[in-house]
Amino acid sequence: MKQSIYNIKELEAWLTRAGFGGRDLRRTRRLLFREFTPLSQLPWEDSVKEKFEQEFETSYLTLVARHDSQIDGASKLLFETADGKRIETVILRIHTGRVSLCVSSQVGCTESCHFCATGAMGFFRNLKKEEILDQVLQAGRIIASEGRKLRNIVFMGMGEPLRNYENLSASLKSLLHGGTFQFADKYITVSSLGIPELMIKLAKEFPQVGMALSLNGHTDESRSRVMPINDRYDMALLRQTLEELEQIRQKGIMIEYIMFDGINDSLEAADRVAEYLKGLNVHINLIPLNPDFSNDKSLLPSSREVTDPFQERLRSHGYKVTRRFSLGQDIAAACGQLANKDDISDVEIANKALAGLT
Ligand code: SF4
Repeated sequence: MKQSIYNIKELEAWLTRAGFGGRDLRRTRRLLFREFTPLSQLPWEDSVKEKFEQEFETSYLTLVARHDSQIDGASKLLFETADGKRIETVILRIHTGRVSLCVSSQVGCTESCHFCATGAMGFFRNLKKEEILDQVLQAGRIIASEGRKLRNIVFMGMGEPLRNYENLSASLKSLLHGGTFQFADKYITVSSLGIPELMIKLAKEFPQVGMALSLNGHTDESRSRVMPINDRYDMALLRQTLEELEQIRQKGIMIEYIMFDGINDSLEAADRVAEYLKGLNVHINLIPLNPDFSNDKSLLPSSREVTDPFQERLRSHGYKVTRRFSLGQDIAAACGQLANKDDISDVEIANKALAGLT
């Protein structure tokens, strides 16, 4: 069986046997994992490359399609696993020059949030550590070939990352490790829909990695309306968890709040959210619902006339509040739109939806 390119101990041992000294070793790791140099372009003799490829598995995913947004800097990459499962990864080139990568952690999802296209797929399996890291390596090569640098990794793609804790943890170790990717922990964010014991576990293991919680409701009733998980872990328990997380991590948490017309978007709802989060170090990110990709077609996005005052009301309570501009709406790459369909159809649906909006 071949070794994994992501097994740094095996990789280093092999390179040492092949005659790479300390400096060459460091250079190889930098070229491979930080500068995202393709294997074919490494300054190695052909015979070394050939032997390396015979002994190491260097790719765990096949890129089967790529869609570049015509309206912003998003690209959706559709990958296929060795057992024929399809997952999606999104490159987000922000206008400030920053590049983020949204990675998937599961094929489908164990949860069934009503607003989410992935949730409608059902659950197939967890992604292995190598499949998570390969999304980063392959996307990193695309980004590097454009002369850009990948800075942020967000676990906000397909799946609930904490339900795949073992592989999430192993991937985070590789992403942070000085001998491989060496990302700064503050530039990695794991988003969860709120599983208390696993959020605490993650905070204890990786206290400096960013965390985001999908709140999406101001009462148990409104939250359960869009997220079945709330019937199991209610908002009172989540509030206790947020307090505990703050003690463990000594840093703030991102609160994601998707706004649904008539469900959680009134000024009273803003006051309830403000009261609920009182005393916590949070940044609230308001997210527009992406139309046409909800499981539940009765869910509608809040209008601008509602979201602006909502945002202002939260600010008046002293919170830092931003509105996420969802990139990639025309290629079905925005939040809640990753659905592992054969992408052309959902790209077309998204384009039609956008056309309808303009
Ligand atoms: S929002 Fe996240 S946790 Fe909920 S169904 Fe979608 S992918 Fe799963």
